[in-house]
Amino acid sequence: MLPNTRGRRRRWPASSATTRLGRCAMPKGMFVDTSICIGCKACQVACKEWNELGGEPEDFREVEGRLKAVNFTGNSYDNTGRLTATNWRHVRFIERGSSLEGNMAWYMMSDSCKHCAQAGCLEVCPTHALRRTDLGNVVVDQDVCNGCRACVAACPFGVISYNKQTGRVNKCTLCDDRISQGLETACAKACPTDSIVFGEVDELRVSARQRVETLKSLGHTKAQLYGDTDVLGGLNVFYLLLDDPEVYGQPVNPQLPQRNLVSGSLWSIGSALVLGLSALIAFRSRRNGVTAKEA
Ligand code: SF4
Ligand code: SF4
Ligand code: SF4
Repeated sequence: MLPNTRGRRRRWPASSATTRLGRCAMPKGMFVDTSICIGCKACQVACKEWNELGGEPEDFREVEGRLKAVNFTGNSYDNTGRLTATNWRHVRFIERGSSLEGNMAWYMMSDSCKHCAQAGCLEVCPTHALRRTDLGNVVVDQDVCNGCRACVAACPFGVISYNKQTGRVNKCTLCDDRISQGLETACAKACPTDSIVFGEVDELRVSARQRVETLKSLGHTKAQLYGDTDVLGGLNVFYLLLDDPEVYGQPVNPQLPQRNLVSGSLWSIGSALVLGLSALIAFRSRRNGVTAKEA
C-alpha cells in the first residue's frame, strides 16, 4: 500500500426525489484509490451487512445442517470472483511479478457499479425499472423489473446481474437509502484506509487528479484515472489505477449499446441494399437472356 496523501473524507447533505434519464447537476459518487487499498474486504462485508445480502446459492452447500462454502475461486485471495446479484462489491486481487524472483506484488481493486453518467442499463430498460435519482445514482425498482435482462447485456462492465431466486436484477444502489439521508455509503464508511471516498463527484475528481500527479512524481508512471469525464460522460464511481485498465479486468473503451446498434443497423441496411441490387441485376440478365433466345 502507498501512503495516503489525500486527507480525510467528508459527509454530504441529503437530497431526495428522482429523475429517470436526466443528467444530475451535482452528482454524488465515489473515488476508489486502488493505490491505498490493502485488500481487507471490509467494504465487501459492509455492503453485504447493510444491504442484507446473502451468499450466492451455488457457492454454498448444506453439510450436516450447516452451510459450507464449496466454490473457491483459486485465484489469489479473491473469494467471490465476480459481481453478482448478491455480491454488489467485489475486491479483485491481481498478482504481479513472482515470489521466486522476489518481486511479488498485488494490485487490489474494490469494484462495483460505476453509476455511469451515460448508463447503458438504464437506457435499454423497457419498464423504467432502472432510474437515476437526483443524487445521480442508478437504482433498480424491484417491483417494476420484469426480469427481461436487457440491462444485463447493456452494461459494458458486466455489473448488473440476474437473480434466479427473485426473477429480477440486482446491483449496487450507491446505498441509496443511506445517501438520501445524508450518510456516506456503507463501503466508504467501512474502508480503513480511505481507499473508497464518498462525495460530490466534481470535487472528488479534483483531489483524484492531484493524487495521480503525486503518484507520478513518486515514480508510478502508469498511475491514471479510470472513469474521468472521458468514459461514458464520466463514471460517478471512478478509480485511480496503477496500471492500464485491462490489467484490472476493466474495458479500455466501454460503449453504450445503442452505439453498436447504429453501426450494426448501418451494416444491415448496406448489406440489404447490396443483396437487393445483386438480385435485380441477376433478374435483368436472366430476362435479357430469355428475350434474346425467343428472338
Ligand atoms: S456500471 Fe453498468 S449497471 Fe452500473 S450504471 Fe453503468 S451501465 Fe448501469
Ligand atoms: S455503495 Fe452501498 S450498495 Fe454500493 S457497493 Fe458500497 S455498500 Fe454496496
Ligand atoms: S475496505 Fe478499503 S482497503 Fe479494504 S478492501 Fe475495501 S477498498 Fe480496500
